[in-house]
Amino acid sequence: ASYYNENTIVYLNGKYVKASEAKVDLYGQTMHYGLGVFEGIRSYHTVHGNTKIFKAVEHYDRLRNSAEALNMPYNWHTVDLIDATYEVLRQNNLQDAYIRPLVYGPANMSFNLNSESNIVIEVWEMGKFLGDKLLRVLASPFQRPNPGGFKIEAKACGHYVNSILASQDAKAKGYDEALLTDMHGFVAEGPGANMFYEKDGKLYTPALGHILPGITRATVIELCDELNIAVEEKTFTVDELKQADAAFFCGTAAEVIGWESLDKVKFPLDWNNSLGKVLQQAYKDRVTERSLAPERLDGLGKGLKSKE
Ligand code: PMP
Repeated sequence: ASYYNENTIVYLNGKYVKASEAKVDLYGQTMHYGLGVFEGIRSYHTVHGNTKIFKAVEHYDRLRNSAEALNMPYNWHTVDLIDATYEVLRQNNLQDAYIRPLVYGPANMSFNLNSESNIVIEVWEMGKFLGDKLLRVLASPFQRPNPGGFKIEAKACGHYVNSILASQDAKAKGYDEALLTDMHGFVAEGPGANMFYEKDGKLYTPALGHILPGITRATVIELCDELNIAVEEKTFTVDELKQADAAFFCGTAAEVIGWESLDKVKFPLDWNNSLGKVLQQAYKDRVTERSLAPERLDGLGKGLKSKE
């Protein structure tokens, strides 16, 4: 994959520099121990013809919260980082982009606190992350990290060892993506996305506590509210999930993407008749600032009853 070329510009500690010329210290806690925090953000070309970073404030606020959770110094202001991000997009001539801010430590091989942090903001072009086709999901043998041992609400670099193990295992077994449980065996999230399922015309999603509090998850809940779709946060097992009518992942990179099956058990509801499809469309409208037009969504989300 080519994330950058010799002309690519990144924002690094207040300066706009060439990615190919920027240097990172080899003797730091982030590279060696995974003590770093990052964000995954998207910008979109809107229906108004401009470039808009979706939920920029929420993402940079979460970056700060993640850094504070890991005791990493964080001396930047959300508004300044948003300005810098628009400037990096402009300098790289990107509109529909993935934005990756990373906060990392200076040289320090001890476990002691750092007195400062570095920040880099990288941007690259990104289309669909998990593709467009429905996903065949594996209930992973990997569990999410124990919240008693990690700051699981932080988007910390080291947590992604767990994500990579689960994702690679699922793909090696012939599936598209993994679904991880928490340490108690309850459904948690994907390696890089939250999930919802539909049952009898209502949506359910794992409650906060063992998962990353996804900004897309919050957006989906907001959209449900606007569209009068019932949604409940609760604790449930993989076996319960296999009784669902339909299911989907949601995340900044994944956006809203439906599931075909879980452990080869197919979901009975046609994706095109699911609430997930309604929300997929509504999400696309929200990120591109097209106003919600309920009549365009009419006929979608008919549920299983439409078969009768
Ligand atoms: N869970 C995990 C583990 C993730 O990495 C992500 C992606 N940041 C999500 C959920 C979804 O979060 P968001 O909607 O904020 O991108």
